[in-house]
Amino acid sequence: MRLILLGPPGAGKGTQAKLLVDHYDIPQLSTGDMLREAVAEETEVGLKAKAVMESGKLVSDDIVNAIVSDRLDKDDCANGFILDGYPRTLEQADSLGSMLEKKSMPLDCVVELEVDDDALVERVSGRFTCAKCGEGYHDKFKMPANPEKCDRCGSQEFKRRPDDNAETMRVRLQAYYKETAPLVGYYYAKHLLRRVDGMGEIGTVQEHVRDVLDKTRK
Ligand code: AMP
Repeated sequence: MRLILLGPPGAGKGTQAKLLVDHYDIPQLSTGDMLREAVAEETEVGLKAKAVMESGKLVSDDIVNAIVSDRLDKDDCANGFILDGYPRTLEQADSLGSMLEKKSMPLDCVVELEVDDDALVERVSGRFTCAKCGEGYHDKFKMPANPEKCDRCGSQEFKRRPDDNAETMRVRLQAYYKETAPLVGYYYAKHLLRRVDGMGEIGTVQEHVRDVLDKTRK
């Protein structure tokens, strides 16, 4: 199963991708995570990307295309992958198309998660993750059972993304509507687009996403 999760920041792509990883046993390829790792490790890419990411704008196509191409060559992508946060521009979508053709890895499906703008801001401004295992939480929708401890690994350290604030979110949404939303038409024309209502609870959205994917596999 090779798929793209498409949708604005806060639509739930990362959350849904993590659940799909467990279910289909394929990796989540999040360019946001890869770039945050590069920033933390202060690599050449990280140093170039840091300020752009903090402003909410998009990192250059060349940088992300190269990261994804390398990642797709790893063994764990042989049975499929979930692209989360990539492609984000028409240029990236074209590059991905050429990459996948060369690697003989055709896409099965592009799932668009549809969520209202007001909900996006609320979701993004309340989210945080366990600093140790990466489990995702939310001030309003998903607190750990003991607010001071991660449900999954017991760590007491949590972190919030510096770009998850209302002001940067506005820039990220603008980037989405200007640069990424045209991909909906792009993949629709290729008969790959499936739309899923992303407004429900995490488990309900996951069921709908799996329904769509299971139909695609048949
Ligand atoms: P995300 O975790 O997907 O919300 O991404 C966080 C930030 O990383 C974005 O606001 C961009 O600055 C950068 N980023 C992630 N993926 C891409 C991409 N495919 N193209 C350009 N910039 C990206």
